[in-house]
Order: sequence, then C-alpha cells, then structure tokens
Amino acid sequence: MHDQKYNPYEQMLEVMEKSAKMLNLDTRDYEALKYPERELKVAIPVEMDDGTVRVFEGHRVQHSSSRGPCKGGIRYHPDVDINEVKALAALMTFKCAVVNLPCGGAKGAIRVEPAQLSKNELKRLTRRYTAMILPLIGPEKDIPAPDVNTNEEIMGWIMDTYSMFKGFTVHGVVTGKPVEIGGSLGRREATGRGVTCIVEEVLKHEGIQAEGARIAIQGMGNVGGTAAKLLYNRGCKIVAVSDVSCGLYCESGLDINDIMQYIECKNGRRLLEGYPAGGSIRRIGNEELLTCDVDVLIPAALENQVTEKIARQVKARIIVEAANGPTTVEADRILEERGIIVVPDILANAGGVTVSYFEWVQNNQAVLWREEIINSRLEEIMLQSFKDVMKKAQDYNTTLRMGAYILAMERLVKAKKMRGIFP
Ligand code: GLU
Repeated sequence: MHDQKYNPYEQMLEVMEKSAKMLNLDTRDYEALKYPERELKVAIPVEMDDGTVRVFEGHRVQHSSSRGPCKGGIRYHPDVDINEVKALAALMTFKCAVVNLPCGGAKGAIRVEPAQLSKNELKRLTRRYTAMILPLIGPEKDIPAPDVNTNEEIMGWIMDTYSMFKGFTVHGVVTGKPVEIGGSLGRREATGRGVTCIVEEVLKHEGIQAEGARIAIQGMGNVGGTAAKLLYNRGCKIVAVSDVSCGLYCESGLDINDIMQYIECKNGRRLLEGYPAGGSIRRIGNEELLTCDVDVLIPAALENQVTEKIARQVKARIIVEAANGPTTVEADRILEERGIIVVPDILANAGGVTVSYFEWVQNNQAVLWREEIINSRLEEIMLQSFKDVMKKAQDYNTTLRMGAYILAMERLVKAKKMRGIFP
C-alpha cells in the first residue's frame, strides 16, 4: 500500500519536531518522544481449517507511558508494517494528551486479510497473538482496543485469553469489549459520535448551518458509518459515501438510513458495490469522493489518502480527520496554503479512546455508567478539547494540527520533566 517515499513514522517525527520548534523546546525535553519505548515483533503460527500451518507477523508498540498506561488499538490489515504501527502508537500518545486522558500511547497490528480467514481461524490467530504479547499488556500497563478490521468480539477473545493465563477474569486488560463482558455502553459509537461533535463545532465556528451542510465520507466502517448516521439525523446532507468497493454520490443527499440498513445486513457486512444505484444516485471512485464539492470532507478509512495530488483538488472547505493519519505532511502544507481547515485526527477521532478510558475506569471500579452519562461526558471532553486546540492555534498563529500538537507536546513535556529520567 505504501510507496517507497511514504514513511508514516518519519512524517510523524516531522510534525513532532515542528511543534517542538514552535514551543522553543530544548531537544533534551522531548528527545525520548522520538523513539517508541518498546517494540515487540511476533511470529504467530495458526493451524488453518484445512490442516496447514500459516505464520502471521504481528507487532505491539508502546510509544510512551509518561502520562499513564499505554493505550491504543489493534488492527488487522494485509499491508501493515512496523513504521505504520510505530506512527500509530505515537499518534495515540499525542491523542490521549490532547483530550487530557491519563494515558500514554500504543498500537498493535497483525499483517493479515481477516476476510480470508474463517471465524475459528481468526479466533486462534487472536488468541495466539494475545498469548505472545502477554508480557506487554495488562490493565496497569498497556490496554488494547479495536481499530481497523477488529471489533467487540475480537476484544472479548483477547480479554478471555489474558484472563485464562491469569487464572481469573481481568476486564480492564482491553476496551471495546461486548457490554455483556465488561464493555462500556456507548463505546461502539464513541469515535463516530466524537467526530460528529467536532463537525458541528467547526461548522459553527465557520458560520455554516449544520442543517443542509454538504458532507462526504470516505469509509463506512464503525467510525464513518456512525458519523454518517448521526450527521444525517442532525440534518446534514451526506452527498457522498464510500467503502473499499466503491463510492456513491447523490447531489440532493443520500438516504443514510437505507444505506446503513443495506450494509448491516443479517449475515455480517455488505459492500456498497451491491447497493442499488440509479436515478439520482451514481457510483463514484475514490478520487472523486475526496475531491467532490462539499462543506466537510471526512476521511474515515486509512492513512495516506489525502496526498499532494488530492490536496490540490480538494473542494471541501473543511476536512475532519476521522481516520488516523489520512493526510500526508506535503498535502497538509498545500491545504494550509489553500486555506482549507483541517481538524487533525488526534482531536477529531479522540472520542473512541476517550470512551475506552471510561470503560477502563468502569472496569477498575467494577461499575457500569448509564449511556447518557457516557455520551455527555464524551461531548464535554470533545468540546473542551476543541476549544483548547483552537486557542493554541490562535495563540501561535498556526493550523489546528499544530495547535493540537503544541497542546499535547506541552502536556507531555511537563509530565516528563516532573517525572525526570530514571535512574
Ligand atoms: N483505535 C482507536 C484509535 O485509534 C481507539 C483506541 C483505544 O480505544 O484505545 O484511537
């Protein structure tokens, strides 16, 4: 997936460095942040249903624990590599700092196309991976969660595997679990809900009415799908959506309820390519989706989507990054020159980890919060963080991305200084 030139970790370092310069930091204050604290690579053997054995590559990277236990998802994807996992782990460190959670950052991944595995193979893969990263994870040190192509069921298997090794049930080792086994109400929708809050805030800030605002969403998974639903109910006009198979466009706005019903069919998830188009709905490609004429573009798929070429053609006034790392550093520069507002991933999609943190708190205290409490606390944190980031961007006369990094960097460096370097 990644071309030679594109190294997500180097891109991450570039942004980090830039924020440190703007803050006039001494290198000794943030030198350690350039390196992940721990990286574990594992080879995961799995007995396949046909009796053969396949070995999958897996990673768990802990970027920083300066502000608390490491937190971050696990993704299953055929193209993941170590630089991507390192970058995503570092993003988690900054994301948790932006929303002021007492957590550090981590990320895990398995190089696999999960759609090609049977459910039992997926379960064996997950359990063996969990066993192999067991020395690193735990409720007091590193707490995984869902990410691309992983879900509640998989988190349940991780919780069970960890618990079997301990000899007792440990709810707090992983978040995003099914509610029946220690999951939190509202966690599934949390990232999409947080994205929706941010879209509403940024529209307000720009003086655009939410009702009728034109929106395009790349990716209709848990995050994109939830955001589409919530924004549609809010009265926004979702003119374009897409998934890996294709995109759909309708000038007068798509019927999101109908599309969601189609995707979430009884036997799992269906792809958009089978959705009956025609009449005012036409199929579009990825590039057309990213460059269509909208108020807000929401990339909610993978990284490296808004490239230099796309950035020059973007017609959206605002980009809200629901995915992690969807905009390259070069593209970001072009968007800034063009005056397009970009709400960065580390703020826009922080709703997921925020409710993960709530789940962990509930697990540690053995309590269950009501969904209204969770949603209102989530909204409070998203709105406050949006204000904090906006203020930093104004104070330093910079973009929202740099505002978010400056805010996070200040918090991280403070924590590092207070703790000091051991020994
Ligand atoms: N994978 C999500 C993210 O990238 C959630 C992480 C978590 O809940 O720990 O933010």
